Amino acid sequence: MTAAIALAGCGHTVDVVERNRDWSVTGWGLSLTGPSLRALQRLGLADACIDGGFGLTQISNCDSAGRTRNVIDLPLLLGPDMPALAGLSRGVLHEVLRDAALARGAVLHTGMSVAALEQAADGVTARLTDGSARHVDLVVGADGIRSTVRDMLGMPAEPAYTGQMVWRAIVPRPGWATTLHTFAGPVHNAGLIPISQDQAYAFVTENHADSGVLPQEELAERMRDLLNVFSGRVAEVAATIKDPELVVRRPVHAGVVDGPWHRGRTVLIGDAAHAPSPQMVSGAALAIEDSLVLAEELGLHDDVETALEAFGRRRLERCRLVVETSVKVGELEREGRHAEAHKLQDRCHQVMAQPI
Ligand SMILES: Cc1cc2nc3c(=O)[nH]c(=O)nc-3n(C[C@H](O)[C@H](O)[C@H](O)COP(=O)(O)OP(=O)(O)OC[C@H]3O[C@@H](n4cnc5c(N)ncnc54)[C@H](O)[C@@H]3O)c2cc1C
Repeated sequence: MTAAIALAGCGHTVDVVERNRDWSVTGWGLSLTGPSLRALQRLGLADACIDGGFGLTQISNCDSAGRTRNVIDLPLLLGPDMPALAGLSRGVLHEVLRDAALARGAVLHTGMSVAALEQAADGVTARLTDGSARHVDLVVGADGIRSTVRDMLGMPAEPAYTGQMVWRAIVPRPGWATTLHTFAGPVHNAGLIPISQDQAYAFVTENHADSGVLPQEELAERMRDLLNVFSGRVAEVAATIKDPELVVRRPVHAGVVDGPWHRGRTVLIGDAAHAPSPQMVSGAALAIEDSLVLAEELGLHDDVETALEAFGRRRLERCRLVVETSVKVGELEREGRHAEAHKLQDRCHQVMAQPI
C-alpha cells in the first residue's frame, strides 16, 4: 500500500490487487522504528500512525526478573520533539494506509491475484484470477514472504525457518510500560510494547520450536506456560494473557533474494525480496523505504529498466544487512548471548538511521 501511495502521489495510475477478499487484519501489534516513521513522514502519514498508537523513545533491556540491565536511547529521526518509535495495532496501520491509498486515487481490487505475467518491450500484461487482463508499464510484486510474483519470475529463495516461533498477545498496558521492554529469559526472550494508552502487546520468542500449528483455544495457556520461568513484571503481564483469540503464534522465516529484484517490467519489493526476522523490528521499514526509492527512481529515469536497476543498487546492501543481522541476532539469542545480540542490533540500527 505504501508503494501505491508513493506511486499515485507521483502521478502514476495505480491498481492494487489483493488476494484477501475482506482484507482482514489480525489483532497483533507492530513496532514502527525510526526509519519506518521517517519514511511514513515523507508520505505524510507518520503523525496518523503515532496518534493512532503509542510513541516511545527508549528500549529497556531487562533480566528475567524484570530488573533493568541497560537502557538504549533511540535516535530521534523525526526531530527532538517527536517519538523515536511507535507501537500500534496492525489494524490501525492498515486503516491509515488504505485510506491514504484511496485518497490518492489508487484503485483497490480485493479477492483476486495475478494468474500470469507476459512481458513485452513496452510493458507487461498481467492476467488476473477474475479473468481480466491489464497491460501496464510496471508490476510491483509486494505480495509478501511467500510471493507468487517471485515464483512467476523464477527467482529462488523460499525464506528459511530460523527454528524460532514468535508468540504475541494483546494485553492491557501496565502503567510502567512507557518504553519498549525486552526480558532476557534463561531459554526464551520476552518483551512488551505499548500500542495505545490502554493496550500493549507481549511477545515471547520460543527457541528450538516445532513449527506445527497448535489449537487456537490452547494458545493463551501455552503462552503463559512459556512465560512461567520469568518473574516480576513478566509474571504480572503473563497473568493478563487470558483470551486465546488475542494470541498469535507464527514461525520466523528470513531470507533475501540475490539481486537483481526485477525481470523485465516486474519488480519485487518488501518481504517478497527481503524478509528479516522480527529481531530487527525492521521489515516494515524496509518495505516502506522500498516504496519511496522505487517511486523516486522511476521519476528520475525515462527508461523503466534503468530505474529498476538504480532501485536495486540503492536497496540491496541495506536490506541484506538487516536480514543477515536479524538472523545472527536470533542465533545469539538462542545461545543466551544477549549482550552480543544487543550490540549487533544497535550497530544495525545505526546503519538504518542513515538517510536512504
Ligand atoms: C511475528 C512477526 C512480527 C513482526 N513484527 C514486526 C514489527 O514489529 N515491525 C516491523 O517493522 N516488522 C515486523 N515484522 C515484519 C513485517 O510484518 C513485514 O516485514 C512487512 O509486513 C512486510 O510488508 P509487505 O508489504 O512486503 O508484505 P505483507 O505485509 O506480507 O503484505 C503482503 C500482502 O500481499 C497479499 N498477497 C499475498 N500473496 C498475494 C497474491 N498472490 N496475490 C495478491 N495478493 C497477495 C497479502 O494478503 C498481503 O496483504 C514482523 C513479522 C512477523 C512474522
